[in-house]
Amino acid sequence: MRSEKFGQDYRRRSMLVCVLVGATALRTVAQPDRQVAITIDDLPAGNAKFMSGAEIADMNSRLLAKLREQRIPAVGFVNESKLYKLGEVDERIKALAMWLDSGFELGNHTFAHTSLNQAGLKAFEEDVIQGEVVTRWLAAQHKMKLRYFRHPYLDTGRDLETRREAEAFLIARGYRIAPVTVDAWDWMYGRVYEDARERGNTALEKDLLKDYLEYTDTMFAYAERLSKELVGYELKQILLLHANQLEADHLHELAAVIRRRGYRFINLAEALSDQAYSLPDTYIGEEGTDWLDHWAITRGKPAQGHPVFPAWVIERDKAISRPASAPAP
Ligand SMILES: [Zn+2]
Repeated sequence: MRSEKFGQDYRRRSMLVCVLVGATALRTVAQPDRQVAITIDDLPAGNAKFMSGAEIADMNSRLLAKLREQRIPAVGFVNESKLYKLGEVDERIKALAMWLDSGFELGNHTFAHTSLNQAGLKAFEEDVIQGEVVTRWLAAQHKMKLRYFRHPYLDTGRDLETRREAEAFLIARGYRIAPVTVDAWDWMYGRVYEDARERGNTALEKDLLKDYLEYTDTMFAYAERLSKELVGYELKQILLLHANQLEADHLHELAAVIRRRGYRFINLAEALSDQAYSLPDTYIGEEGTDWLDHWAITRGKPAQGHPVFPAWVIERDKAISRPASAPAP
């Protein structure tokens, strides 16, 4: 009787173990160990020219609070031209210092968001140098180095000679180029969102957020598929975001979408340790694009099936009246 019961228990436990092992194996197959690094461009704010120093400080402090709460490492890429507004320079520099005070890292995104493709090599290089003065000083105060560079508009050169010369210049100045593999155009969602926010159009804010989160989810699925096609596994992704009100208000919801896909957040250095980032890359073009695209085009097999950006957001963005000098991505 006793031994029979023992036998039953044992069998039940063995079955349970089998079921658990099976479930773990299934989960492993269905859910790879997904990792993503977050990068945030256009600091201290995409729209800095049209914001007060106080608004910029408030936006950055809310964005940083969300990153900290979510335990998400991030590198913020700076356009120092946005610091120079008479009477506000100190406040604007403090908004950058907050990043370092909170344990985040800053990188260079050129002084005036200069496109290598549009400005040419010499002007680009000068803008890189002009763009590192305050940031390098702030980093040194925090015993950190300025070590990352992000190309404005992701424009990496329209011919290979220029591209390679620019890269050699950046490396000589101590930079590692920060690629992008996931880009859900939050700068455009963000522009329309900020306009809706100013007008108090909360219904539009909601619609934009919903669409933005869905589009980001779709872009991750696309990046995962391309990764597997290119390297046979899901590489450590690098997501491009921008310093705007959309992220400052909703970054936690974005993080939830990304976590739901099975991701954990890593820092940029960890992401760059993925061997994929040393794949051959001879991409050149008028238009900047992400690195999955670079690698696919380099192989002579341009990526197919890029998710279509919602036309209604483009239409809304066009409808916003803004000065000709309005900021771009
Ligand atoms: Zn930018």
